Amino acid sequence: MQAVLLSIGDELILGQTVDTNTAWIAERLLEWGVMPLYHLTVADDLPAITAAFKDAAARAPLVIATGGLGPTEDDLTREALAAAVGQPLVTDEKSLAEIRAFFARRSRPMAERNALQAMLPNGARPLPNSSGTAPGMHAQFSGCDILVFPGVPSELKAMFDPHAIPLLQKLTAAAGNASVILTAKVNTYGDGESNIAARLGPALMRRDRHPLIGTTVADGIVSVRVRSQFPTREQARRELDATLAEVRAALGSFVFSLDQQSLAQVVTELCIASKKTLAVAESCTGGLLGSLITEVPGSSAMFRGGWIVYSNDFKNQQLDVPLDVLQQHGAVSEATALALAENALKKADADFALAITGVAGPTGGTPDKPVGTVWIALAERHSPATARLHNFPGDREMIRDRAAKTALNTLRLRLQNLSSSST
Ligand code: ATP
Ligand code: MG
Repeated sequence: MQAVLLSIGDELILGQTVDTNTAWIAERLLEWGVMPLYHLTVADDLPAITAAFKDAAARAPLVIATGGLGPTEDDLTREALAAAVGQPLVTDEKSLAEIRAFFARRSRPMAERNALQAMLPNGARPLPNSSGTAPGMHAQFSGCDILVFPGVPSELKAMFDPHAIPLLQKLTAAAGNASVILTAKVNTYGDGESNIAARLGPALMRRDRHPLIGTTVADGIVSVRVRSQFPTREQARRELDATLAEVRAALGSFVFSLDQQSLAQVVTELCIASKKTLAVAESCTGGLLGSLITEVPGSSAMFRGGWIVYSNDFKNQQLDVPLDVLQQHGAVSEATALALAENALKKADADFALAITGVAGPTGGTPDKPVGTVWIALAERHSPATARLHNFPGDREMIRDRAAKTALNTLRLRLQNLSSSST
């Protein structure tokens, strides 16, 4: 089955905003075996958007559009859809009530223009939007299903699964590939994509294997995607589980989670399960590690807090790193990392402490400590602290990101050892 993807907005046409929505949707469609036929980006222009809808509907049984649902003059998508399907715009009272409630919850007055967002082509179905004002739309026109989502990427992502997946299920079943597709993602950290593929081996990576396995990498996390398509749900589930077990066996402790679970979530859960607390001492990551942990709801049960000890003075004053250690070994050294972790552990009275000190660049590198040199230490109550030297590639942002994630992964591995040895 094929689909056409439309993205709507002058800012996209002018290159002021990069279109990330279509790439995201295309990937989701592929999970359902739906192939995008083409992507089209259209300006905020009523005749152009109308023509784009009509043309797309004539070429594919599914059209997914994003953008232009806002309340302003230049948001023309609902009008264009109405023109394309040849129906007048009518107010959907339920959507209007939801938009009013959205403003009421924020104690903000609703501009009358926002009422426009409750208007839909006659016969179209509103798709409720829990994180913004504009509902999406589902219209049917000459054998084509047209879905329209808001352009705001976070709103699109929140709305896609509840509204698009049931339709995808129905359409792919009707299109004859009457089968159930289940997908899962196994997330790994600590090795590159080609090495992970090599660990999986040629049998698992075969392109004609069922379930099908593929790898993707995003921000240092290599994910193995498994897509299980079989005639019945039971068979799809059984085959998916069997393949997941094979993937896990092949990748061992590189695997940290399934699906959307982040490293910080895993660490938080493992700490809470084993009733352990954590403190952090950060130099080159400047609070990034603490930020990743506190992003996780419930982290207050395990996270004591941390120090951003950026200057040598602070390392000495706040966390008692001896001045002679800083002078002799430098701030980016095993001795400094160990002292930071051990003293953070003591001061926070925590069960674990992670410390990060490194050269994030672009300046400050030396021949023996080039940009990307990062020491990460883990201190643990009643055990000697350990530190490891890492050399991260990339720019400042990437080095800081990898340093924070590698620190989390270091603790993850330690906690998983703890729980496997205690069971
Ligand atoms: P709203 O009701 O919130 O205004 P909307 O449907 O009108 O939603 P737009 O006005 O088109 O959405 O875009 C809202 C924001 O989302 C803008 O900041 C825009 O840059 C961004 N955006 C729109 N389309 C895309 C896209 N295809 N990829 C990435 N970002 C996008
Ligand atoms: Mg808008």
